[in-house]
Parts: sequence; structure tokens; C-alpha cells
Amino acid sequence: MGKFLRIIITVFICIGFGNLTLAAEKLQVMASIYPMAEFCRGVGGDLVDVYQMVPNGIEPHDYEPSPKDLVKLGNMRVFVYNGGVEFWATPALQALQEKEIISVQTGEGIGEKDPHVWVSPRGAIQQVKKICEVFCQADSQNTAQYKLNTERYLSELSKLDEQYSNLAKQYRRRTFVTAHAAFGHLAKDYALQMVPVAGLSPEAEPTPQDLQKVLQLVKKYQVRYIFFETLTSPKLAELVAKETGAKTAVLDPLEGVAETDKVTYLELQKRNLEALKREFAE
Ligand SMILES: [Zn+2]
Repeated sequence: MGKFLRIIITVFICIGFGNLTLAAEKLQVMASIYPMAEFCRGVGGDLVDVYQMVPNGIEPHDYEPSPKDLVKLGNMRVFVYNGGVEFWATPALQALQEKEIISVQTGEGIGEKDPHVWVSPRGAIQQVKKICEVFCQADSQNTAQYKLNTERYLSELSKLDEQYSNLAKQYRRRTFVTAHAAFGHLAKDYALQMVPVAGLSPEAEPTPQDLQKVLQLVKKYQVRYIFFETLTSPKLAELVAKETGAKTAVLDPLEGVAETDKVTYLELQKRNLEALKREFAE
């Protein structure tokens, strides 16, 4: 409730600056989090200016927009978000109703219980298609180019989809241990087994019983690596690794990158694939 009230107050402040809309030739797009921004760049190419609400270096589950962020959102033509991670998106859009921002919740219908839709290439494919639809709606004279960009980006995602699908054919052991439960869609889509140390959000800390269960599973499946993330503390992963004799390694939930990192979503997906192969290898 506190968070919601704060947003409403900040939005009242920002409405005062509401008419600062700048004339811009390119389609002005706000993406909520890093993977949404990446998909927007893939679909939009040179035709769009893509901004990212949750800055690089910040874990998106912890983020709250500032009044300045909301003013910026108010100046956008399109807002692309995932849903489920951005608790602030609905109240922000309601407060900015008069701006007629075209918004799309790309995880709608896919990530109702677990928001981490973008982590699976199959989920990403659906999200990219939805982004293409809104860009074509917002900037219809460039429809042909958006469709061409989308086709190219989707062919990259399809390659990843195929490579992830091959894991089930290549490896018998397919259990992996992760810091927070961000890989549920990936596991479901590609017949893998995820054992998360924490919950759906990195702050959902495990109880001693949860931890005990993870330790047992690590031993049972002879897991080699306890995967941790780039934007959260590796402490829990290190603890589990120490208790079980496993090593630690990075498996990226692709939620955000370090402040100065220029790495693309597609590159990070390839790194994850290699990390999983090292875990699954006999
Ligand atoms: Zn997450």
C-alpha cells in the first residue's frame, strides 16, 4: 500500500510537467526492463528511440520509479512491459491515462504465476511478436520495416529455441540449481528440472527446511554447479556450494545487466546455454 500511495503522489507531481512532450521523428518507446528493451531494439531498429525504465545495474524486482521516471514515461508514445515484475506499471499507466500512451503487457496470458517469460526463447518469440504489433499500430507508415526487423530477430530466437530443444536429446542429466526461481518457463519449455534456492523474487529467502531440501537434491542429482546471478548477492549460492562441494557459476536470468555492460540478450542466452551444457555433460 505504501508503494502504491507513493506512486500516486509522485504522479500528481509529474502531471504538473505533463506538457513537456518533445517533437521527435523516431518512435519514442519506453521499455520497463532490459529484456523488453532488447526486444524493442530488435523490432524497432533505427526507427525507434528505446529507453529503459529500470536502469542497468538495478535488480528489477526491487525497483520503484522516481517522479522523474514517470515524467519521462508520460512523454513516450509506446510503453512495453512484461507484467508481474513491474508492480508499478498499472498505477503509473492509470495516472498517465490522458497521455494516451500505447502500452503492451507482453507476458499477458503466458506468465500469470511466474513472470519470467523472457527467459525462455519460446516465451521471447511470443513477446517479440506482440511488440511488432504495437509498433505497427503506433507508427503504421513503417509497418513493412518493423515486420522485416521482427522476422530477422525471430530467426535468431528460433535458432536458440532449437539449441535449447536439443538439450533434452543430448543430455540425460538435466537438473540445475539456481539462485532465484527465474528459470521456470525455460525448464518447462525444454524439459529441464530447475531447483531454485530462493523464490520467484530474489528477496524471497529460503527457510532452513527449504535449504535442507536443496542440499539433498544437489547430492541426489550430483549437481556440479550452483548457479548465481550478476545483479544479486552470490552468498546463498556460495553457502550451498560449500555445503555440498559443488562449484559456483553464473546463469543469467536476463532481467538486467551491469551498469556499463553492452551485452545483448542473444549473447547472454548463448552463455546460459553453454553454462547448462557444462552442468549436464556426463
Ligand atoms: Zn526474477
